[in-house]
Amino acid sequence: MKSSHPNSPARRLVLQAGVAGLATLSAGCASTLSAAKPRVVVVGAGWGGIGAARALAESGKVAVTLLEPNDSFMSCPLSVLYIAGHQPASDFQRSYKTLDDLGVQRVRERATAIDRSARVVETPTRKLSYDFLVLSPGVDYMEEALPGYAEGRAQLPVGFRAFEQSAVKQQVDAFLAQGGNLVIAAPKPPYRCPPAPYERAFLIAEQMKQRGTKGKIIFVDANPAPMPPPIAKPILHAMKSLYAQQIEYMPGTEMTRIDAGRKVLTTSKGDIGYTAANIVLPMRAPALIRQAGLGERWANVKLPTFQSEADERVYVVGDAQGTALPKSGHVAFGAGQQVAGDILATVAGKAVRPAAGDVIGLPTGICWAKVTKDDAIMINVSATVEVGQPPKMKFEVDPQYNAASGKGAREWGESMWRAMLG
Ligand SMILES: Cc1cc2nc3c(=O)[nH]c(=O)nc-3n(C[C@H](O)[C@H](O)[C@H](O)COP(=O)(O)OP(=O)(O)OC[C@H]3O[C@@H](n4cnc5c(N)ncnc54)[C@H](O)[C@@H]3O)c2cc1C
Repeated sequence: MKSSHPNSPARRLVLQAGVAGLATLSAGCASTLSAAKPRVVVVGAGWGGIGAARALAESGKVAVTLLEPNDSFMSCPLSVLYIAGHQPASDFQRSYKTLDDLGVQRVRERATAIDRSARVVETPTRKLSYDFLVLSPGVDYMEEALPGYAEGRAQLPVGFRAFEQSAVKQQVDAFLAQGGNLVIAAPKPPYRCPPAPYERAFLIAEQMKQRGTKGKIIFVDANPAPMPPPIAKPILHAMKSLYAQQIEYMPGTEMTRIDAGRKVLTTSKGDIGYTAANIVLPMRAPALIRQAGLGERWANVKLPTFQSEADERVYVVGDAQGTALPKSGHVAFGAGQQVAGDILATVAGKAVRPAAGDVIGLPTGICWAKVTKDDAIMINVSATVEVGQPPKMKFEVDPQYNAASGKGAREWGESMWRAMLG
């Protein structure tokens, strides 16, 4: 939490910058906004959507409608502790009551279409008008990237979205009981939380050791080394020093087909038979983004504001946006808060924009790669952007897994969930 604290210098810098440049737009909105509270529709109540919806609702200055099909929040970060059997799923779930109490109008439906010219979001039963739209719908899996996957989907849960973890846990439990080959596969970035597939392999391998499971984890990595590059060394160190007997690592290995009937994964290095598989597919923004003309694989946004390049009234935060910022919950939450600040400044007629050449701080992030139940590797990412240029990132990574970061990860989770929904 340290670097994204709302009052940190980096955030102040971002917010000062973020309130700029919308002056023209806010003047244009004035007639719409004067009579009733401006309407903000937020799509998705995950990390980014909660960041935006809560900050907007706490201001009392806008009417917030939040579209989310799930009735509660479940964290992907740290949920490996559930998959590996250390904690119940409920430890990673939170109710949306805080948002309800703040007056957010929560609608348990999916956004199915966006009509940007009419400024309307459609759901199966409603048409919701907006003055500003915040999109944080997360990711979709690119099933077509792996021929055979769609046919075997039911046996191949990815588990990189909220509430999908229980299907993965069932497979892991069966593997730990019976043994055999568990294939875990990581795609090339960009995908959600690049260290997460390694973390999953580690915590399952730890359980294999403890339960005496006969068999191995075959880690099929499309990358030449663990991702992201700054973490490769401590990940490889953990793999070799702790799990050399449990994990067979295959770097630089592309998946080309999967046959879920025969349980064979075909790769650039030959066929691999498996008893269970956790294939992390390549990812992209959900179809809603493409259909609304906001980008192809990811939404195209301007930094530092996260406004769509196609439409200044539409903001896209979280993993669906296509900047080089890490696809991290911490970054998504900070970006949601920042966007809320930008909208509120616009509504107040105080929006200004940074000038070309200004260097602005961006939401920061912390990711944790759990290595054992009690140890982790911390990756701290800070970023700046020179307006009009790609962001520049600085990584600080633990040289080796350690118990302090294991404890830090749990404390970070609790503090983030409190900031989101506590
Ligand atoms: C195993 C794992 C470990 C991770 N560990 C970390 C970590 O240590 N630190 C960290 O910072 N990040 C971590 N992450 C990454 C983090 O979970 C994501 O970056 C974060 O969830 C992104 O937030 P988001 O708002 O973009 O998407 P999400 O949090 O996925 O939220 C998207 C929401 O939108 C909803 N939605 C989707 N489509 C629609 C629609 N059409 N209409 C309405 N609602 C919709 C979904 O139901 C969902 O609730 C991890 C991820 C995984 C998978």
